[in-house]
Amino acid sequence: MERHERDARRAAAEAALGELADAGVVGVALPWVDTSGITRVKSVPLARLPAAAQWGVGMSPVFDGFLVDDSIVAGRYAGSVVGDLRLHPDLSRLTVLAAQPGWAWAPAERYTQDGEPHVQCSRSLLRRLVEGYAADGLTLRAAVEVEWAVGLADLPDGAEPGAFVPALSGPAYGMTRLVEVSDYAADLLRALAAQGVDVDQFHPEYAAGQLEVSVAAQDPVAAADTALLVRDTIRAVTTGHGLRASFSPKVTADGVGNGAHVHLSLWRGSGDGAENLMSGGPGTFGLTADGEAFTAGLLDHLPGLLAVGAPSVASYLRLVPSHWAGAFAVWGLENREAAVRFVTGPAGNRQAAANVEVKCVDGAANPYLLMSGLLAAGRAGLRAGATLPDPVGIDPGTLTDAGRREAGITALPATLEDAVRAFERDDELTEAFGTELATTIAEVRRGEIALLEGASPEQVTAAVRWVH
Ligand code: GLU
Ligand code: MG
Repeated sequence: MERHERDARRAAAEAALGELADAGVVGVALPWVDTSGITRVKSVPLARLPAAAQWGVGMSPVFDGFLVDDSIVAGRYAGSVVGDLRLHPDLSRLTVLAAQPGWAWAPAERYTQDGEPHVQCSRSLLRRLVEGYAADGLTLRAAVEVEWAVGLADLPDGAEPGAFVPALSGPAYGMTRLVEVSDYAADLLRALAAQGVDVDQFHPEYAAGQLEVSVAAQDPVAAADTALLVRDTIRAVTTGHGLRASFSPKVTADGVGNGAHVHLSLWRGSGDGAENLMSGGPGTFGLTADGEAFTAGLLDHLPGLLAVGAPSVASYLRLVPSHWAGAFAVWGLENREAAVRFVTGPAGNRQAAANVEVKCVDGAANPYLLMSGLLAAGRAGLRAGATLPDPVGIDPGTLTDAGRREAGITALPATLEDAVRAFERDDELTEAFGTELATTIAEVRRGEIALLEGASPEQVTAAVRWVH
C-alpha cells in the first residue's frame, strides 16, 4: 500500500468521525472470514479508527489455519504462530450497526507488514477477480440468500447444552410463523433498512424454526460484504430477543438444512447502459453465448467448487436429494433440485431479472472464497467458450440410477473428502486461488474431516451448530 493510499484512508476515517460520534458509535468492528468460514474480528475504539485505516490493526496469520473448533492445522502455508498481518478496514463499506448500539462495522482486508495484500486474503482475491472481468468490459451482479434457524437460548430442563430447540412452531412458509416472529422480524427489517441493506424478501422457510432473507444484487465484493452484514445483524437481533440463530448447513441431523444460495448474472458494460447476458440471446431460455459459457463454467466446476461452497462435514448432511439443496450436477429452469437453477424472471422484466442460482452451497462457506471460486469457474467457461448440456426439467431424485445414467445426470460429491479431491484436480480453480490459498483450503477441510472422523450425524450437527 502506497503512502498516498494510506493517507487517503486516514483522511476518510477522520472525515467519518463526527458522524459516527453523533450516531453514538464508540467502537468499530473489523471482521474478516477465515478459511473454515468463520467470521473473526478485531475492533478499535472510535478514536483509533484513523490509525487503523492508515496502518491497519495487527492480527496473526495463524487464523488461516483455524478450524471450526478453534484448533489449528499445521499447514504448509498456514497455521504458523510467527508473523503478523495488518487488518485494513474498507471504509467505503463503513456501517453503523443498528442492532448493536455503540458499534460500527467495516469489512477488513489483510495486508502484510510491507503493505502488500496477504496472499491468503479472500476479499482481496475476489476484488482482483472482479477487476479481471472489468478489464474485458464485463460486470457481475450477485446476491447471497441467507437461511437460518431460530432456537431457544434458555433451554428447557433436561436439554443437552447447545441443543437446538426451535423457537417457532408455525408451519413452513406459514403466516402463523410470521405472526410468532412479528416483533423480531420487524426489528430485523428495521435494522437492515437503517444499515442500507436492500432487502428483497423475508419469509418463514421450510425447516423447524427456519427463516430467510434475500437481498438485491450488487457487485460480488459488495454482495459478500452484505452476506456478512446480514448475518451479523440477524445474530444481533436474535440475541437481543433472547434467542439463538444457527446458520449451520444442517442444524439437526434430520430435516432440511440451511442453504446460502448465490444468485449471479453476467453483464456487458456497467451502470445504466449495461446489458444482461443471461437474457435476450438466441440460446436456451434466452441465454446469450457468453451467458451460456459462463453458466457452463459454473456447472463444469461444481464438484471442485464444493470445497469452498459446501466446506463443512455438515454440508454433506444437507446436500442430499429431495431437500431442495441441489445435490445433482445439472442445470434447469426454476428446478429446485438442480444445483444450478436458471431463473428468467417474469416476462417483461427478463433483461433485469435473469440470473443463475447456485443452490448446492451453504452458509458455512466464506462468501469471498465462494464468490471467488464461482467467478473463476465462470471465467474458465468464458475462455473455453463452454456450452451447456440439455437442461433438466424434472427432479433427478425421482429417476432410478439407470435412468439417471441414461440421462447423463451425475450426483455431486457426497462427502467433503470427495469435494476436496475434485478441487485439487481442478487446475483452473486452484490456479485462481493460488498455491498458498488452495493448499490451505484443502488442509483446513481435511483438518475438519479428521476432527469429525467417526462422528454420528447428531455429533456432527452439534459440533458446528452455532459457529458459522
Ligand atoms: N433450505 C434449502 C437448502 O438447504 C433451500 C430451500 C429453498 O429452495 O429456498 O438449500
Ligand atoms: Mg430458501
